[in-house]
Amino acid sequence: MLKIISLFIVTVFFITEAFSQNEIFTRQDTLRGSITAERAWWDLTYYHLTVNVNPADSSFSGSNLIGYQVIEPNGLMQIDLQPPMKIMRITQGGISQKFTRDGNAWFVQLNAKQKKGEINYLTVEFEGKPKIGERLPWNGGVNWGRDKDGNPFIVTANQGDGASLWWPCKDHPYDEPDSMLISVTVPEPLVDVSNGRLRKQEHHPNGTATFHWFVSNPINNYGVNINVGNYVHFGEQYKGEKGSLDCDYWVLPYNLEKAKEHFKQVPQMLEAFEYWFGPFPFYEDGFKLVEVSYPGMEHQSSVTYGNGYKNGYGGRDVSKTGYGMKFDFIIIHESGHEWFANSITNYDVADMWIHESFIAYSENLFVDYFWGKEASAAYCRGTRLNISNDRLIIGSYGVNREGSGDMYAKGANMLHTLRQMIADDQKWRQILRGLNEEFYHQAVKTEQIENYIAKQTGLDLKPFFDQYLRDTRIPTFEYALVKGKLQYRWGNCIKGFNMKLKVKINGQVQWLEPTQKWQNLSHEELIQSVEVDRDFYVAGFLCTEIAADNQ
Ligand SMILES: [Zn+2]
Repeated sequence: MLKIISLFIVTVFFITEAFSQNEIFTRQDTLRGSITAERAWWDLTYYHLTVNVNPADSSFSGSNLIGYQVIEPNGLMQIDLQPPMKIMRITQGGISQKFTRDGNAWFVQLNAKQKKGEINYLTVEFEGKPKIGERLPWNGGVNWGRDKDGNPFIVTANQGDGASLWWPCKDHPYDEPDSMLISVTVPEPLVDVSNGRLRKQEHHPNGTATFHWFVSNPINNYGVNINVGNYVHFGEQYKGEKGSLDCDYWVLPYNLEKAKEHFKQVPQMLEAFEYWFGPFPFYEDGFKLVEVSYPGMEHQSSVTYGNGYKNGYGGRDVSKTGYGMKFDFIIIHESGHEWFANSITNYDVADMWIHESFIAYSENLFVDYFWGKEASAAYCRGTRLNISNDRLIIGSYGVNREGSGDMYAKGANMLHTLRQMIADDQKWRQILRGLNEEFYHQAVKTEQIENYIAKQTGLDLKPFFDQYLRDTRIPTFEYALVKGKLQYRWGNCIKGFNMKLKVKINGQVQWLEPTQKWQNLSHEELIQSVEVDRDFYVAGFLCTEIAADNQ
């Protein structure tokens, strides 16, 4: 009698070829998404972004002082700012510079000779009514809302669309300034909360106030944010792996008591993630949770929160196992991005799985830390419901195009599968912590992550990553029982796919090393049952016909 365990059989579409992603890209996509000659010659060192927030006409005006080191002498520089925002003036050393616009890219012809190794500064003055963000964070921009008391509540989010939606910058993830000062002027008594630490607060006679926030670490563009509201503040100290970490919380006054209770999940999050990933990567800038009017975003050292002070994600359990209701998805997921996204940043957004796969997986690690390994595995398997296998997880390089939304649940299940292959949780933890040491505060490519894990495990992981990141098919364990003997191989997979697989034969754990060729397993007893370990994200298929041919 053959016993098939149905749980591991996911819906299998026998796709014969990898899905081709025929997309047409424009010159604007290339200007935005590639390291153009006008970007490559200079390395960001500093931004001082000054923004006047004008709720009366929904406009921003200000300047960005851009510090950079000359890598190779060149006189033409690309700065990004998307219409309807406008650059009014660009100066270097107080002298106006000539510039032209090509869509979202502005090209500045610098008068002064740019000498190799020199650190220079450029001031870009801008103004305009930035795009309205109606469905933050998916539809980026500025949301000019009001809180329940009728006070202005103005927030920004721009992942995908780009920071250049509202401020002029080098809008590509490969380059980050070493530090950044953000000075935001708002009508009193409103408060601005941005990234890093509040260095100074100034009150002006005209009824406005300026908040100066300083980030002492490299920061990605999309992480920079402005949150203006009638905020109140509370905080605590977390005793972590690198000492005392300041945790600051900025919420609306009517949610203060709820927040004090609900944000007890923050030290829990820090405890679990420091265990799995290593020290919080921005002790110098502190950890911050800031209430906003949209679900949330991983803004660096200013994680935004709008999940209604409830567990789950918008009241739902993304895993449908019950474990998803044991924690606040936004607190856990968005804060997890401080490690993968803010500290380890994708070099090109085509590699955004580095942010989302590890952090979708971090939800499991949080569950693992507090409710145990089986709970975490159940949560991970539960999220398979959210996989569509529609497009490749890796997007298109050089054109600012991310891959499939499968970078979340499928990416997490890929990492969960990898953990099974490694079959040593302490080693797996050391790899996760090692990634955070090796690539601390860096922009990295997919290959760097792949190579690091392959080196640490000694496994040939190229076919594994190619299968899950660069193909849409679910590898299928094809097997047959012929006269009590097992025949098996991998099907529906890329050429050379050779992942080892844990199975139970007659209830006993056994590792198989399937390839695309049929292999026979000789077993002392008659094989009566074959059960694929359900923590592997694979399909199983019983091939009676093929078995007959293969006898
Ligand atoms: Zn995320």
